[in-house]
Amino acid sequence: MRVIFHGAAGEVTGSCHEVEAAGHRLLLDCGLIQGSRADEARNREDFGFDSEAIDAVVLSHAHIDHCGRLPLLVKRGFRGPIWTQRATADLLKVMLEDSAKLAQADAERARRRLHEGRGGRDDEEELEPLYTLDDVTRTLKHVRAIDYDAPTALFPGLVLTLRDAGHILGSASVELVETAADGTRRTLVFSGDLGPNGTPILRDAAPVPHADLLLLEATYGGRLHRERAATVTELGEIFHEAWRDRGNVIIPAFAVGRTQELLYAFAQHFEEWGLGRWQIFLDSPMATKVLAVYERHAELFDEEAARVFATTPHPLRLKNLHLTDSTEESMAINRIDSGAIIIAGSGMANGGRVRHHLRHRLPFERNHVVFVGYQAQGTLGRRLVDGAAYVRVLGSEVPVRAKRHTVGGLSAHADQAGLLDWYGSVGGRPDTLLVHGEDDAREALARELRRRFDADVELALPDMARTVGR
Ligand SMILES: [Zn+2]
Repeated sequence: MRVIFHGAAGEVTGSCHEVEAAGHRLLLDCGLIQGSRADEARNREDFGFDSEAIDAVVLSHAHIDHCGRLPLLVKRGFRGPIWTQRATADLLKVMLEDSAKLAQADAERARRRLHEGRGGRDDEEELEPLYTLDDVTRTLKHVRAIDYDAPTALFPGLVLTLRDAGHILGSASVELVETAADGTRRTLVFSGDLGPNGTPILRDAAPVPHADLLLLEATYGGRLHRERAATVTELGEIFHEAWRDRGNVIIPAFAVGRTQELLYAFAQHFEEWGLGRWQIFLDSPMATKVLAVYERHAELFDEEAARVFATTPHPLRLKNLHLTDSTEESMAINRIDSGAIIIAGSGMANGGRVRHHLRHRLPFERNHVVFVGYQAQGTLGRRLVDGAAYVRVLGSEVPVRAKRHTVGGLSAHADQAGLLDWYGSVGGRPDTLLVHGEDDAREALARELRRRFDADVELALPDMARTVGR
């Protein structure tokens, strides 16, 4: 068994690893590259492998940086099954349909720019959408949904088991066990994205019994999150301060995971955070659809959430929560002078409705922007977090006077301590390749893994190949 790295090796987005096992070729994830326009243009390039030669895909979870190039893979000739957890299969439809619509809108913008004579070579390349809704429909027909902890034979001599990764609903760590003709077994484990223990709604990431080679995510490999309790206090303070400022609060949030956990936290701390006096907007039709998928999968909740959902009708749908659907409803929020909490995507503010809210609200000191998730290099969110005084949003140069807060304790990713604990739970103390993290985060995690576990650790690089077991 062998692994070859194609994406999220030295960066965070575009997760895509190729595996040769039991005489077949598989992909672990096939995610979209996100970031600056130049980064995103790389989605159109060759994968670095032949799509027709891939026999199966195993998808760890439904975030777009893990699943967003699947329709492109199908468009380029992939015909095999896409194995994934049941809830991920439900979320995948929502994610990919949204992604196709965004691709269509990007292509239309490029055509308009060219038509008006202000386009460039980039626009010519982007005239064709990356993929369409038809490609998505074709892709979804390949999905084979399975449960956690249910060993599934993919090919003779190759068994897949998905384990709860505690990151978003349906997220999984992937275990592939190859048994050779002579009975020798080799186990490859891909952590997927790992959630921190204690994530609201979800169960904690499950331990893995054994690995000969481990691909471990390292998004927050160099950082420790604040305690969740401190985060709850901090968020409450921000809402109270924003109310005193007679301002508004904008929260760029990933439509899957972050948003549902935020709404859950809103419900849990409704009184304490003084939320009853605000108008709260979930301005993301996609997040609203995902909300419905979460509500359908109570079988995956942790004990506390299962109890809350069993005893409260619609615990995530607060009485002052407005779910906005049309563009007109979204634009109408701009007319509210103060007292609005606006949750809108995208989570890194590089797309979606949050951009028009930011353009409208950033110039005013009374407003507050709260970042609750990872902000990749090259995104608008990262520039705001890094303290930019001016940013370009939807074609205008906007001064940034709004207060900015980064609330780390709500992250969907385990921090360094969490990653080390999870590594410690993997049987066999495997050789490890770090993926899905910027280099400083991966180096910091590698140092700690060597120090604490005397582990054999490397940073995965694009096109690097490694054999499983020695
Ligand atoms: Zn993720």
